[in-house]
Amino acid sequence: MTPAGGGGSLGAMEPQITPFMELALAEAEAAGRRGEVPVGAVLVAAEAGEVLAAAGNRMEETGDPTAHAEMEVIRAAASRLGALRLAACDLIVTLEPCPMCAAAISLARIRRLTFGAYDPKGGGVDHGPRIFTQPTCHHRPEVVGGVAEAACSGILQAFFRDRR
Ligand SMILES: [Zn+2]
Repeated sequence: MTPAGGGGSLGAMEPQITPFMELALAEAEAAGRRGEVPVGAVLVAAEAGEVLAAAGNRMEETGDPTAHAEMEVIRAAASRLGALRLAACDLIVTLEPCPMCAAAISLARIRRLTFGAYDPKGGGVDHGPRIFTQPTCHHRPEVVGGVAEAACSGILQAFFRDRR
């Protein structure tokens, strides 16, 4: 374990990595191969441990600036369950959600948000507007950040390095 807030080094042990985060990482890698910024998300029915939806970013593919991985899994799971509220569901994503996705997570009443890398530039949970702390936010999920942080940020760093 690295100290709190530490990034850890690539290749270091990732004791916190879970099968759901592994799946989110696989979705992020697949998104990167499609030319998308490599972010992946998974939505899980918490009690059953069942994966309801898994997706990566699809902005380039769909021409939709809101097609972030989190939005994709929320839409897919809500459609699959025929429900507007996903209160018994957990969302796992490789990058700290942006303000739009954080607001969507709140609207969907998601129980717990787990994310990998922190995003000081674009994040909206621990950075920027800190959506869940706003008085206009009526549902605050449990939040766990920095899970498998080195692996999650490593995919992003490699993607942007290769594009230079
Ligand atoms: Zn987003």
